[in-house]
Amino acid sequence: MKIMKFGGTSVGKPQRMHEVARLITTGNEGKIVVLSAVSGTTNSLVAISQQLAKGDRHAAKALIGDLRAQYDAFVPELVQTAAAREAAAAILHEHFDFLSIILRISWSEALNKDILAQGELLSTKLFSTYLTEQGIAHALLPALDFMRIDAYEEPQLDTIRELLQAQLAQHRDTTLFITQGFICRNARGEVDNLKRGGSDYSASLMAAAITASVCEIWTDISGMHNNDPRVVERTVPIGQLSFDEAAELAYFGAKILHPASIWPAQQYRIPVRLLNTMEPSAPGTLITQVAAARGAKAIAAKDGITAVNIKSSRMLLAYGFLRKVFEVFEKNRTSIDMITTSEVAVSVTIDNDSALPEILEELAAFGTVSTDGGQTIISIVGHAVASDTSMLQRIFSSLEGVEIRMVSYGGSLHNISLLVDADKKKEVLQRLNKGVFNL
Ligand code: ASP
Ligand code: MG
Repeated sequence: MKIMKFGGTSVGKPQRMHEVARLITTGNEGKIVVLSAVSGTTNSLVAISQQLAKGDRHAAKALIGDLRAQYDAFVPELVQTAAAREAAAAILHEHFDFLSIILRISWSEALNKDILAQGELLSTKLFSTYLTEQGIAHALLPALDFMRIDAYEEPQLDTIRELLQAQLAQHRDTTLFITQGFICRNARGEVDNLKRGGSDYSASLMAAAITASVCEIWTDISGMHNNDPRVVERTVPIGQLSFDEAAELAYFGAKILHPASIWPAQQYRIPVRLLNTMEPSAPGTLITQVAAARGAKAIAAKDGITAVNIKSSRMLLAYGFLRKVFEVFEKNRTSIDMITTSEVAVSVTIDNDSALPEILEELAAFGTVSTDGGQTIISIVGHAVASDTSMLQRIFSSLEGVEIRMVSYGGSLHNISLLVDADKKKEVLQRLNKGVFNL
């Protein structure tokens, strides 16, 4: 059995849903099809929820109206028969009724999660209506019945496996299942989610839960490229990557896969294939346990980085200093990406500066603290790239004249990271494309 996950743009238009139906009905293997919300819907739901949180019911109502209009236009293009249109109308009715009821109750974090869940519920139910109209046998599995996270928001893979297997066992004659990405239930039994972009994570967890033959992630580009095609003119698709390489790339900015989604597939050795709905015959990118080859595979950029610098003469010859510094970040629930130290200073980078004022205040007890906002981490990723003796030289000679704020080398054998000013990003990506890949 395999997992096929389709992202928001892959189900973003009625015609795209028709295309997805074609893709999932080829081949004999059983499938669990995981869908995201129609592209733009989750953003709209977030905006609706934000207006409600602010107490602006009027604005929320207007946004709900806009969203409703989009779906009213979607349905007649999706399905044609009277029965299917009636079924689709009932689905819209149910979910937009819910959205109009919430206008009258007070906002809470739990309600917010309920609001965000509407996107995936809508996309899967509408898609299922289309499949039924086309006479395509399938079962709609409610993800809320088997996707579980614990009190620390960590997915509970063993519980997911047990519940999902039980669901599948109820449909012994079915080989095609449709379910929601992103949504789950938390330890309190409430509707929750795996965070923005979490459908990939859903897919990978389900793949691990059923030991799928492959976890296919269908998007609108042909796999991972060696560099950002929006910034650099010439890029090439990467045929094969190892899980370690993919994890580094996903974490350090390659937008194609949710970073957390690697571990379940990796742990259960389930190959992940990145494929393109617009070009289904393109080979895409295959991610497996073993690396295809050594050397640089791709460059990724992670924006919105702040560097925090702590200078302390007291650090000189002191032990336990770094622990105290890290504790400040831990206490403020802020994770650190890059670290460099000298005997008297330590620099770290963070990508979430929401607790920065508190962090700076607490760090001030250790010494002089300064920050640099608007930074970008550029990562050169590839199997054993850090043990290629000529790599650093190629990187630095291609970046001559560019100020590099920090370098992280050797932490992972598969990643060399540089911190540069965000306005240098384009130039750095272009120059490295030439220096590292000869493109
Ligand atoms: N619909 C959710 C989002 O937009 C989850 C996903 O698409 O992966 O974040
Ligand atoms: Mg996505």
